Amino acid sequence: MEKKELIGLSKSEIEEEILKLGEKKFRSKQLWQWLYFRGETDFAKMTNFSKELREKLAENFTITRPKIVAEQLSKDKTRKWLLEFKDGERVEMVYIPEEDRGAVCISTQVGCAVGCKFCHTGSQKLTRNLTAGEIVSQFMVARDTYGEWPSPTNEVRYLSNIVVMGMGEPLHNQDNVIKALNILTDGDGIAISRRRVTMSTSGIAPKIVETLKATGVRLAVSLHAPNNEIRSQIMPINNRYPIEEVLKACQEYQAEDGSRYITFEYLLLDGINDSLENANELIRLMKKYHIRASFNLIPFNPWPGCCFKPSPSQKVKAFADALEKAGFAAPVRVARGQDILAACGQLKSKKDSEQ
Ligand code: SAH
Ligand code: SF4
Repeated sequence: MEKKELIGLSKSEIEEEILKLGEKKFRSKQLWQWLYFRGETDFAKMTNFSKELREKLAENFTITRPKIVAEQLSKDKTRKWLLEFKDGERVEMVYIPEEDRGAVCISTQVGCAVGCKFCHTGSQKLTRNLTAGEIVSQFMVARDTYGEWPSPTNEVRYLSNIVVMGMGEPLHNQDNVIKALNILTDGDGIAISRRRVTMSTSGIAPKIVETLKATGVRLAVSLHAPNNEIRSQIMPINNRYPIEEVLKACQEYQAEDGSRYITFEYLLLDGINDSLENANELIRLMKKYHIRASFNLIPFNPWPGCCFKPSPSQKVKAFADALEKAGFAAPVRVARGQDILAACGQLKSKKDSEQ
């Protein structure tokens, strides 16, 4: 019989497994702590278990991390991993350090079915969803790398934030993403605060509110256009869920709790969506829906075979200034890790073509 993987099981599922082994319930709490608080991968080292229980666990279960196929460290300390799962499928993960904290960017699917025209992952089609365990274990690899087990309490924590902005559309893999986010934010384990986790979606409108309610994480929406005409041109998903539907879901989410700000990501593509007129239309749109929002202006990261060009810096600045004058925070994202193929999907493509 194939051994069962423990990483990715919920608290109640771990409890069930422990009871099935004929053990007392409190053992499942201890096991949870070994897995997610200490990051232990070896049953033999679980010292508060009897030898008999350690052996029973090893006979029945596995604790797996994805394999690191490639790892690159940029001059600016951005780190990128190419990770491989049991079936050989691969995704990328990136760590973006800031002064006294840092965000780990994790993936939710191999490829993506949304097919945004500017996105390298979108050009790779969808191969499969990641399991909850595969989503959680990416972050565990980052903790292994930086030696952050068990979680430090006072010192600087480098891996303080999680952004679900890697490969894939999280709301096309909703159940596994919800399960994974609840494991990552559980206070007895990895314990990343829910307010420090941001999930980005291309706007699968009917699933937004439900997912946020089930996880309590922050929302980022890839808007990228001030109207349906431009958005449909660069994001075909807009034909299915047009801007109005996405913004209504955002309104509904904010209606529950006035303190929730939404980040709108806006990729600036030369001559497509970056004029002053586009900025003004965007401001009118936000005011019409009364959405409390900040923007994240993203310089386009070009990749071979893509037809778009990044906006020139004067246009980016004029766009940001217009939003700021209207009262919206609109920082321009600094491009990181330029020397290590940091545009999402590029490292995977390079390695795939070398095979
Ligand atoms: N599928 C989700 C999350 C992953 S993509 C989503 O689309 O929101 C994370 C962010 O990277 C999105 O805002 C996406 O639009 C952006 N992105 C995609 N391709 C890019 C590129 N070539 N340059 C810069 N940002 C890109
Ligand atoms: Fe998928 Fe996001 Fe890329 Fe669009 S931008 S193709 S939704 S990963």
